[in-house]
Amino acid sequence: MTTDLSVDADWNALYLDGEWTAGESDETIPVEDPSTRERFTEVPAATEADVDAAYEAAAAAQAEWAERPPAQRQAVVQQLLEAVHEYEAEIADLLAHEVGGSRIMGETSVKIASDHLSEAATLPRRMKGEHAESNIPGKENLVQREPKGVVTVISPWNFPLNLSMRAVAPAIAAGNSVVLKPSTNSPITGGLLFAKLFEETDLPDGVLNVVTGRGSDIGDRVASHPESDVVSFTGSTEVGQHVAGLAGENLAVPAMELGGNNAFVVTEDADLDRAIDGATFGSFVHQGQVCISINRHIVHESVYDEYVERLVDRAESLPAGSAHESDTVVGPIIDESQRDEMLGYVEETVDAGATLETGGETVSIEGVDDSLVVAPTVLSDVTNDMAAACNEHFGPIAPVIPFSDVDEAVEIANATEYGLSGAVHAGDLSVAKDVADRMETGNVHINDQPINDEAHVPFSGTKASGMGSYNSDAFLHEVTETKWISIQHEPREYPF
Ligand code: NAD
Repeated sequence: MTTDLSVDADWNALYLDGEWTAGESDETIPVEDPSTRERFTEVPAATEADVDAAYEAAAAAQAEWAERPPAQRQAVVQQLLEAVHEYEAEIADLLAHEVGGSRIMGETSVKIASDHLSEAATLPRRMKGEHAESNIPGKENLVQREPKGVVTVISPWNFPLNLSMRAVAPAIAAGNSVVLKPSTNSPITGGLLFAKLFEETDLPDGVLNVVTGRGSDIGDRVASHPESDVVSFTGSTEVGQHVAGLAGENLAVPAMELGGNNAFVVTEDADLDRAIDGATFGSFVHQGQVCISINRHIVHESVYDEYVERLVDRAESLPAGSAHESDTVVGPIIDESQRDEMLGYVEETVDAGATLETGGETVSIEGVDDSLVVAPTVLSDVTNDMAAACNEHFGPIAPVIPFSDVDEAVEIANATEYGLSGAVHAGDLSVAKDVADRMETGNVHINDQPINDEAHVPFSGTKASGMGSYNSDAFLHEVTETKWISIQHEPREYPF
């Protein structure tokens, strides 16, 4: 395979109808490496006319693709899986440069994306309809499952590879065509990379189209395009509500995975060794920039002091710095505004009476003027109304809130508009199951931390965290529809 997927490759083109094109305007968007703060490449700022061209190509290519036999669609998905494996090192390097992903983040992204591809490859053969008896003599009812048509995929920057993949791969496997709009912070690993990888497969031209551009310039056109039949959006609740409204006006199905404020409950009889291991990973992996990471540690008062002390020890032991160092665990925050927001939440929380146990500052990187790395931060004496607890924070921040009985823990966990993921550690599994049942979230993990995604298990948020589900049959149903065909085998008796 000879495709250039290096950071030095030419990334300055849109992918429309199987062609790399400059697009209508000369304007470009710089792509900055958050570790070094250097611009390493640029991508096109697509216009609404480019967006229209993407949908025109997608609509034109879809019917022929949908008619391909299941085995052919499956083969294309399997070819993509092979390409992801072939280019694993280049993909991880791109993630490090574009979004500050550590070695662990890069490996995890490739692993989860591969899992989504493996599951998507099974869908073409599992797109089954039904046969239903009829109450009308001589009639036969067939219910066919068919692709919706054109699926719009809008993805965020935090885990761009697998969050784009979990929509693109099953949508295409099911016979749809796709217009993919990645985040401005991850135009390559959430978008253009997909076009280069699919070029290694037998996917027909036009089935995948990638437009890079600012959400504020082309987002509305993408979300409301009349050719779009499904809008699969992963991102913030605020933007998601707007996008769902636009999709709804157009009667496109809004499949929305939005923000979270995930609770990690630790009861008095929990195994603290396991809880601290989970707490450390769940708060600090990819510097806390995960929609399902731990936002709030809710810990029983009898183990609270020991828990805080041990979490501080672990936080201080984590290597923090450039994503290009192989041992780095906590890399840079995606950009200045996100970093400043994180540090602002910490400051406000301390001003409101919490104790800063460790962190709360940037970590300098040699040769970099204004580092985006935030030191792993632990805050104690936190209450649920403080800034670091009540806001969805996308940073390496662990606010620890005490509770005295399990009912109070559940009340604190649920006192948020969000309902994405959560976890509970308890020695008594029946207590853990009871807490899990009462947590108002789409996903809860017992004796683990909240970051879990398995492509064959439904993943969804409740409350302000979304509508619809990803993964396997749940997402297959979002990107397909049923069609009832009846056959009247014998003459039918009508009343007149
Ligand atoms: P964001 O909402 O700012 O952006 C998401 C996408 O929407 C980007 O591609 C952006 O360019 C695009 N966009 C912006 N304005 C638009 C418009 N008017 N029309 C159409 N598209 C528009 O989110 P982000 O900062 O990229 O990602 C972080 C957020 O994503 C967090 O809230 C996080 O919780 C959430 N998230 C959720 C999940 C999940 O599975 N529930 C997974 C990852 C991230």
